[in-house]
Amino acid sequence: MVSNNMEKLGSVRSVIREIFEYGNKRAQEIGRENVFDFSLGNPSVPTPQFVTDTLLDLINNESPLALHSYTSATGDNNVRKAIAEHLNVQNGTSFGPENIYITTGAAAALSITIKALAENENDEFIVLAPFFPEYKVFIESAGAKTVVVKCRESDFQIDFSALKASINKNTKGIIINSPCNPSGVVFSEQTISELCNVLYAAQQTYSKEIFIIADEPYREIVYRNISVPFIPNFYDNTIICYSFSKSLSLAGERIGYILVSNKTADPTLIFNAVAGAGRALGYVCAPSLFQKILPVCLGKTADISVYEKNRDILYDELTSYGYEIPQPEGAFYLFIKALEPDAVKFCENAKKFELLLVPSDSFGYEGYVRISYCVSTQQIINSLPAFKKLAEGYKRGEF
Ligand code: PLP
Repeated sequence: MVSNNMEKLGSVRSVIREIFEYGNKRAQEIGRENVFDFSLGNPSVPTPQFVTDTLLDLINNESPLALHSYTSATGDNNVRKAIAEHLNVQNGTSFGPENIYITTGAAAALSITIKALAENENDEFIVLAPFFPEYKVFIESAGAKTVVVKCRESDFQIDFSALKASINKNTKGIIINSPCNPSGVVFSEQTISELCNVLYAAQQTYSKEIFIIADEPYREIVYRNISVPFIPNFYDNTIICYSFSKSLSLAGERIGYILVSNKTADPTLIFNAVAGAGRALGYVCAPSLFQKILPVCLGKTADISVYEKNRDILYDELTSYGYEIPQPEGAFYLFIKALEPDAVKFCENAKKFELLLVPSDSFGYEGYVRISYCVSTQQIINSLPAFKKLAEGYKRGEF
């Protein structure tokens, strides 16, 4: 009666959602303050006041008809122009509105981009584990194949020998996500340069275009002096999937964009395929009101200093209890090595101390857990004794 695959996708709740629901149940039983839920990646800092002010200004001063009408399918032309100009000032590029497609967040940007690029069932998209689990959904529903390449465990940067071994005549593209959900790692400029060399060589070997799809909802969420390389300045066949969900705490409003670099092999052809995929998926005309606030939002963020504070407390304390954690340089996640090989079992033991962590298996990597630290600093401080007891329990061989 219905598509088997879609029914499966819709009825199986994600592991993260399961844990979140369990947290709600526990909160009712023992009180919210006694449950340390680190499962969801929902921003925890308020949306900045200038966003609210701009919305109010638009609502009070623009014609309601113009404000809430359809824009063109690819997005309001002035907004696309503003985004392109902002990127040009930041990165010394020369994009125009013809390179920008406004979307309902990074999720839509990714599924449009993958659908635009996938030509047949032999096409392969490489994802670097640990990865955002929805990549597989987007790739497979576009009729293509997911190829998983694990990052090296020493620093969670790209394992280039594994990557080279996975590239073949069917490789269509690679998704990179830096800062990374779930590892919190930022790919260094050296990693990006090496990746580009590998891909340029592969394009020559197989006489075809191979794309980098840069998934960048966390681009601005980096700490101290870390900078995130702007991939179109390193590699021509780049498409960026950007979102305002995390940087501006606008996750529920669903707003982002696709940048098809003007240096791709055929920017007009690729942009037309993006517009066609947007049309086929019904992702046309992203919410008008939120499109119209974008020109004043470009380059700005919510106050993300609390994430840095949370990260510092957690990283310093947890490593002092003996947990191993790759250097978290961005996003709002820590990826902790479980204290036993089975991360699912480790999470079950963590639950005994009301710590709700996400096992890494759903991110395509075994033996780790993800902690989302976009929570209140008080929750972090209150949870520390539980993390300590968990580590001590393992040291004493209690589990
Ligand atoms: N990509 C990554 C790595 C994410 O973590 C998320 C959301 O958590 C998304 C994409 C989807 O973002 P959006 O809310 O903009 O659709």
